[in-house]
Amino acid sequence: LMQLSIPLNFIGFVYREIRQGLTDIEQMFDLLDVPAEVNDRPDARPLAIEKGTVRFENVRFSYDPERPILKGINFEIPAGRTVAVVGPSGAGKSTISRLLFRFYDVQDGTITIDGQDVRDVTQKSLRSAIGMVPQDTVLFNDTIAYNIRYGRPDATEEEVRHAADLAQIGAFIESLPDGYRTMVGERGLKLSGGEKQRVAIARTILKAPPILLLDEATSALDTHTEREIQTALDTVSRGRTTLVIAHRLSTVIGADEIIVLKGGEIAERGRHAELLSAGGLYAEMWDRQREATEAEERLRKARETD
Ligand code: ATP
Repeated sequence: LMQLSIPLNFIGFVYREIRQGLTDIEQMFDLLDVPAEVNDRPDARPLAIEKGTVRFENVRFSYDPERPILKGINFEIPAGRTVAVVGPSGAGKSTISRLLFRFYDVQDGTITIDGQDVRDVTQKSLRSAIGMVPQDTVLFNDTIAYNIRYGRPDATEEEVRHAADLAQIGAFIESLPDGYRTMVGERGLKLSGGEKQRVAIARTILKAPPILLLDEATSALDTHTEREIQTALDTVSRGRTTLVIAHRLSTVIGADEIIVLKGGEIAERGRHAELLSAGGLYAEMWDRQREATEAEERLRKARETD
């Protein structure tokens, strides 16, 4: 039995690692043809989106029973609004987005979209209603046009270009010798983190889902790239129910509500200005990030003048 259980554990381990590592899991499931951890109920129905209101009610979750990650989370994203989740590393921010996409099921409480529990609807309908801009986008070894069109395979060339322009990556693509036919991915042109993220945004613009899930890259971006990405995100999230897992506080300034997560609980909540004047954890994080950004800018300027 031992001999059998070790390889089985190992397969489970590899499987979990793959799941963790590749954020565009929807794709990976297709590619690997592995069963998802959660299954559709026999009576699962397609999600019927009316307005796109998302609600977390008393959500509790842990990956490992010994270590609770979310300890009773309550919030609502009214249709068309933006809620941003911030907080220290390991606070459980990305876990919230994984639960909304139903990579895992909650252990207590409910997550609903327009009143429908995500566990009662088909995963296919759930995932087609949610556009995900992950931390790190997996690109196919194909042309950049193919990679953008993946958001909606029947999109015309014109629509692909328009989406790329809105995502602030059109000019960059046109500057390449092969333009939209440039091969990208492992064997092609390597794109930077910020470029990949804009490809993901262009895809999402084509997909035009009612609900958006943005998991920002942790990696530092220069101020210019950050501004371009911010503009692209503003375009795509306008009028859509949006959940932002924010690492850069610049993305959260305009959010309708900011949730500060700490140790699996909501430590503070409110709008940017309210939280700043409250002088708590958020204000502290903001100060620290501003100092870091300023230091970076000074360093960059010093290098430029050298
Ligand atoms: P960061 O800002 O660093 O991305 P986060 O707030 O998004 O962090 P999560 O990714 O939600 O944090 O993780 C919360 C906790 O859950 C972490 O302590 C992490 O180690 C743990 N965790 C995440 N994924 C798994 C998993 N698949 N199995 C076990 N534990 C996990």
